[in-house]
Amino acid sequence: MSQPYRITLLPGDGIGPEIMAVAVAVLQCVAAQEGLQFEFQEALVGGAAIDATGEPLPAATLEQCRQSDAVLLAAIGGYKWDTLPRPQRPETGLLALRAGMELFANLRPATILPQLIDASSLKPEVVAGVDIMVVRELTGGIYFGQPKGIFATETGEKRGVNTMAYTESEIDRIGRVAFETARKRRGKLCSVDKANVLEVSQLWRDRITALASEYPDVELTHLYVDNAAMQLVRWPKQFDTIVTGNLFGDILSDVAAMLTGSIGMLPSASLGASGPGLFEPVHGSAPDIAGQDKANPLAQVLSAAMMLRYGLNQPQAAQRIEQAVLTVLDQGLRTADLAPPGAPVVGCRAMGEALLQALASDAPAQT
Ligand code: NAD
Repeated sequence: MSQPYRITLLPGDGIGPEIMAVAVAVLQCVAAQEGLQFEFQEALVGGAAIDATGEPLPAATLEQCRQSDAVLLAAIGGYKWDTLPRPQRPETGLLALRAGMELFANLRPATILPQLIDASSLKPEVVAGVDIMVVRELTGGIYFGQPKGIFATETGEKRGVNTMAYTESEIDRIGRVAFETARKRRGKLCSVDKANVLEVSQLWRDRITALASEYPDVELTHLYVDNAAMQLVRWPKQFDTIVTGNLFGDILSDVAAMLTGSIGMLPSASLGASGPGLFEPVHGSAPDIAGQDKANPLAQVLSAAMMLRYGLNQPQAAQRIEQAVLTVLDQGLRTADLAPPGAPVVGCRAMGEALLQALASDAPAQT
């Protein structure tokens, strides 16, 4: 048995507790199979934290997250808290959590599962086999650069300003995450920028190119962001790992994610330099279906698999979970978000039970 991993669970709001329960059961099952130990500790974030403490990110939650080996988040938010002033909203808590944990790298896979190919809005022959990882810089660039604001000019006309800025060290650290990620995948990295127009992008390109000498096993290419957007929908199979800045990554990761056509399937990981990572589904708290056993738990379960692979370096355990997801889809099980109109559907709990059965049937023979 390994040392116990301390995992902070943040179920949050809406469907969060329902999908988190499935992920925890799956993790416990895999732990038993792989000889791992998890110490789970729940903490409050988002609307649940506002109701209990008045704040969307209590200091105790942030401290507990920082002391963990990894943090698994479900989702936050809901109608009930939508009218609160911005500093007290659930979303503010999530941003503060990412900032407080110094998570500068966001990894979002977009994988087309053969079983769900019809869910994509693109032609099956275009998306079949797509397996992309977008590595987005998360704490710099135009969302944070100074000066920013809406200022009055001398004529009295207002002028809105944001600043896209990156330092060499900011580029290098996200570049290293991207090269390492590509190395664990198919060894191809495409860096996306706008170096033909933007100085900040020229520096980005220079630094990423310089880093490439440290990773001779990774094949590096560059694309301008407008071309990258076009190529993602024209011929997505050409991509393995993509690295880009905050703004371009925000947009391109949504494009890549939507190639898969199903928001209930998409996990993500946010990583810092050394501390614990944060692993969460891309979707929100789905208040419209909360408490009705209708949620698709697979994005949460795949986020747990990302936690094992990228946060705890347990790729074999991650692979077991990913295989169990493929097995239940092969069995034809679909939650409502994945099923064509009129087709039979299963609920969140039944999907969870099917995953546990799939894991059990994948267990190594007893000796
Ligand atoms: P959403 O992702 O919660 O829901 C969009 C649609 O997708 C809804 O119809 C919902 O029922 C469906 N959906 C989402 N996840 C699903 C799942 N696992 N299974 C089945 N169906 C699913 O986005 P929204 O409606 O724009 O936002 C709802 C709340 O979530 C808001 O308060 C928003 O701020 C919050 N939100 C939180 C996060 C986060 O926690 N990271 C991300 C996005 C939105």
